[in-house]
Amino acid sequence: MNYISIAIDGPAGAGKSTIAKNVANVLGINYVDTGSMYRTIAYYCLQNNIAFDDQEKVIASLNQINIQVKYIKGEQRMFLCDEDVTDRIRSQEVGNGASAVGVYKEVRTKLVALQQDIAKSNSVVMDGRDIGTFVIPKADLKIYLTASVKKRAERRYAELIAKGLQANLQQIEREIEERDYRDMNREYAPLVKAEDAVELDTTFLDIDDVTNKVIDLYRR
Ligand code: C5P
Repeated sequence: MNYISIAIDGPAGAGKSTIAKNVANVLGINYVDTGSMYRTIAYYCLQNNIAFDDQEKVIASLNQINIQVKYIKGEQRMFLCDEDVTDRIRSQEVGNGASAVGVYKEVRTKLVALQQDIAKSNSVVMDGRDIGTFVIPKADLKIYLTASVKKRAERRYAELIAKGLQANLQQIEREIEERDYRDMNREYAPLVKAEDAVELDTTFLDIDDVTNKVIDLYRR
């Protein structure tokens, strides 16, 4: 059986998850959010007082980190050692931690294997930083989403406020810049546009336009 795979990569706040979710809905296939997997590892570190920059301890803890991805009522839920942590991993602190632990090759190897397993037996729209370049290099369609730092910070701010979490716009802008730098400059599987990816700048486009554009590209 042939499965569909659409890879959506790009920096934090470019609109990847919303677009990927919409495209998956329209095509009736699974949306796979890989950022949540990195977040789950960061969350484990926070819970167990392991500093993100303590490479040795983070890597040593990987054996104890049992991550499962389940689809419940069509929605991806993350389980850490059998506990549903989906809602607890959305804070800015966990997001920054995900970017910090995501520089370690051993962390990426563990999660890439999980992602490739899912794509092997399901049709997916998968979003992340290295999907088109590394996880599914043979994806049917690769999209690279971008937007200005200012716009991305505003979106992240609105998202956090809507969830009732505390947020500071200037701080988010600074953190996004730091995260971009780390994601784009890490040694192993950095964030980079795949040669055959279509780049879409979402700064001035609305979600529906981008969703339709991606579906159009896929159908063509
Ligand atoms: O997309 P999200 O904000 O949830 O991702 C959190 C962090 O996880 C990113 O900043 C990035 O450093 C890391 N990540 C990654 N590779 C992926 C997905 C996320 O390195 N495929």
